[in-house]
Amino acid sequence: MTSLSTIGEFGLINRIRKNFIKGLPPGITGIGDDCAIIPFNDKEVLLVTTDMLIEDQHFLKKKISPYELGYKSLAVNLSDIAAMGGTPEHAFLSLGIPVTTEIKWLDEFFRGLKYLANKSNTFLLGGDISKSADKLIINIAVTGRADKSKIKKRNTAKPGDIICVTDFVGDSGGGLKALLNDLPVNQDIKYLIGRHHLPVPCLDIGKWLSELPGVHAMIDLSDGIESDMHRIMESSDTGAEIDLDKIPVSETLKKVSEKYNWNKYEIAVNGGEDYCLMLTVENRQFEYIKNNFSTHFSKPLYPIGKITDHKGDLTFKLNKKSIDFSKHGFDHFKDN
Ligand code: ADP
Ligand code: MG
Repeated sequence: MTSLSTIGEFGLINRIRKNFIKGLPPGITGIGDDCAIIPFNDKEVLLVTTDMLIEDQHFLKKKISPYELGYKSLAVNLSDIAAMGGTPEHAFLSLGIPVTTEIKWLDEFFRGLKYLANKSNTFLLGGDISKSADKLIINIAVTGRADKSKIKKRNTAKPGDIICVTDFVGDSGGGLKALLNDLPVNQDIKYLIGRHHLPVPCLDIGKWLSELPGVHAMIDLSDGIESDMHRIMESSDTGAEIDLDKIPVSETLKKVSEKYNWNKYEIAVNGGEDYCLMLTVENRQFEYIKNNFSTHFSKPLYPIGKITDHKGDLTFKLNKKSIDFSKHGFDHFKDN
C-alpha cells in the first residue's frame, strides 16, 4: 500500500487537482497557484487563498509570542495575495483551541492579527471556533482583488527568463534553526528570529511587479527556493538553473552561519518561510526592470538564475559548476 509519505505533499495536491480540475466554470483557476482566481467583473478577478498553522508543526507555542503568531497567521496568507499581484480585502479565521488557553494569550494573538489587518486594509469578516484536544490550530482564508490582465501566475515562466528574488533569503530558516537549537540570543539571533516570526508580506512589491508585462511568473517563497522553483517549473513545463553564489544572503546570516558552522546555502535553498517573492523576468526586459525596481524600492532585485527548457530539471551551480545535490548533498559546497 502506498502511504502519504511516498507521494508527499506535491503528490497529494496533484491527486486532488486531477479530480477537481475538470468541469470548472469558464474563467476560474482552481488548485495549483498561490490563490484561486474567480471572475469578478470586466476588469477584475477575485483571489482566494487559505493557510493553516498547527501547533508543534508550524510553530512552537513556547517560542513565539501570541502577538507574533496572530501577525504571522495573517501574513502568510497576505503573502499569497502578493504573489499574484493582488490587493487583500477580507479575512476569515477559524480556530481550534484547547480549553486551557489563556484569555490574555488570545487577546495578544488578536492584537497582532489586528495590527497587520489594519496595516494591509484587510477586514476580518468571520470564521469559526472549535475546542481542540491539546493543540492550537489556526486557519485563515483571505480574499483579494486583482486586475485580470495584470495577474501573475506560476505557469507563465519561459525558457531564457531571469529568475529573481525580492529580498534576502534564508534569514527565516536561520531564525528557526536558532530557536530549535536554543541558541543564546544576541542582536544577530534576535534579527533572524524576528525574520522568522514577523515576515513582511510583499504586497506593494507584488502589485508593482504585476504592472510589468516583462514579469512572467511569480510565487511567494513559503517553502524555500528549491520547492517553490519546482512549483513554477511544473506549472510552466520548464527547467531551471540556480546560481547558489548569487542568492542574496544577509550579512547577519553569513556571520551566524560561520559561527555555528551552518551551511548558508542549504538554509537559503531549503529553509523556507522567507515570504519574499520569486519571479521570472523576460531576459530583454531584465536591466530595465531591475533598474526601475531599485529606484522605486531603494533595494536591489536579485537575479539568481535562469529558466531553461530542460523540463523538470533543476540544476544548482556554484562558481559556475553544477552541483549534484542528490548524489553529494550540500556538504560538497560547504561554506566558502
Ligand atoms: P502555497 O504554498 O502558496 O500556500 P501550495 O503550493 O502549498 O500553495 O499549494 C498549491 C495549490 O494546492 C494551491 O492552489 C492550494 O490552494 C492547493 N491546495 C493545497 N492543499 C489543498 C487541499 N487540501 N485541497 C485542495 N487544494 C489544495
Ligand atoms: Mg504561496
